[in-house]
Amino acid sequence: MVRVRFAPSPTGNLHIGTLRTALFNWLFAKANKGVFVLRIEDTDLERSRSEYETNILQGLKWFGITIDEGPNAGGLLGPYRQSERIKDGTYTQYAMQLIKEKKAYFCFCTDEELNKEREFAKSKNVPYVYSRKALKLTQKEVEQKLADKQPYTIRFKMPDNEEIKFNDQIRGEISFKSELISDFVIIKSDGSPSYNFAAVIDDMLMEITHIIRGEDHISNTPRQIAIYNSLGKSRPEFAHMPMILGPDRSKLSKRHGATSITDYRDTGLLNQACFNYLSLLGWSPEDNQEFFTREELAEKFKISRIGKSNAIFDIKKLHWMNGQYIRKLSPGELKDSVYPFISDKHKEQLNKYDLNIQESLIYSVKDNLVTLQDINDYIAVYFETDEKYMSNLETFDKEKLQNDKAVIESFINNIEPLNNNLKVADIDQALNKVMAVTGNGKGKVYKPIRIATSAQNSGPHITDLLSIFGKEKLEKRLTNFLDYIR
Ligand code: GLU
Repeated sequence: MVRVRFAPSPTGNLHIGTLRTALFNWLFAKANKGVFVLRIEDTDLERSRSEYETNILQGLKWFGITIDEGPNAGGLLGPYRQSERIKDGTYTQYAMQLIKEKKAYFCFCTDEELNKEREFAKSKNVPYVYSRKALKLTQKEVEQKLADKQPYTIRFKMPDNEEIKFNDQIRGEISFKSELISDFVIIKSDGSPSYNFAAVIDDMLMEITHIIRGEDHISNTPRQIAIYNSLGKSRPEFAHMPMILGPDRSKLSKRHGATSITDYRDTGLLNQACFNYLSLLGWSPEDNQEFFTREELAEKFKISRIGKSNAIFDIKKLHWMNGQYIRKLSPGELKDSVYPFISDKHKEQLNKYDLNIQESLIYSVKDNLVTLQDINDYIAVYFETDEKYMSNLETFDKEKLQNDKAVIESFINNIEPLNNNLKVADIDQALNKVMAVTGNGKGKVYKPIRIATSAQNSGPHITDLLSIFGKEKLEKRLTNFLDYIR
């Protein structure tokens, strides 16, 4: 049974790059009918905050990632929060076992001593490897220092002259020379485990079968493999994903519009659009399909289709995709999605209309929306006061407007017999008649009528706009227009 984990540190909000890691793990789990585990890596007690954990959970939920096992979801292989495992002594128990087997050792070196070693290596221009000074202490010396309560760390003893190899599922064979890797700290002086140690113990106890993570973790992998070997445990498969960069190929940052997923939610991106867009950051299907439902992705996802080269995050493409997803919504779905973004001022106006007209009104501007929060700009035309309409009209060249007189008069004649509740089809008919009477084409009929009624050059489709305005308002504006150009 495939078991994967997403292991964020709650030291910040759920960022787009981290979310992509969660997504690929989740898709892989779903594609293989496996289990997706959420593990909170909160060993950095100073920087970890519960509000970040909340943000991560909210972000995953909104985005559409379901958690099979985790701090709130439960599961048999918990606890799923590392701080809880620190408390129950899991990590120190394994560290002590390694000490007993001489695979780890106490280190009493001070920061000052270690800094000196590092500086020495730097001056010789060689990579720093810990001197193993503490390994040379006799058993008695160690016991004495412990009895004296000297601060210590526990270091893992890297194997000597070994080639540590693994077959990365994305990048192929990768190997490291063990002698170039320092005996690293597994238990820090405050008693907490280091990332490499805690991650291995947890992955082992949570029976994780595949580790899918960013390639910035490749250099941790030989350390983690060495720990598995020392515990006599088989290791999971590793797959290191390429990084996500900005369009300028620099490290992804806020500057590229890459923020937290809850920010995307709050600025009016649709979760389906984010999901679709993110799935294509580093992964591609076998054909050229671009739009996918979550279910399709969960079916098609294969690690072998994750590329080796870095993915480029392009907020413009995400916005474009969001616009496409907005266009797929039904009038009811669009209204529900967009409603929280409508300003109070506009809500007050909107609520004066019947519910079905409210839906049509919103739906009439859907093609203009890139994000849901754009809604206010585009529905404003329906709610403009007569004063504002007038001052907008005054920005047009009056002399030119005089050429539109015949079109406007003909339109007035054609809507006169209609009742106030105008249908799109009524407007269509009226416009066709104006074209027939004046001999003008669409452009020379639609545009003057749009200007005469809304004092705008562009906006919702003309038939939607005019039918939602209603006969009374149309007549008022059209007569007003004629008075103005007289
Ligand atoms: N907490 C680590 C991180 O956020 C997890 C790394 C891993 O997947 O092993 O980078």
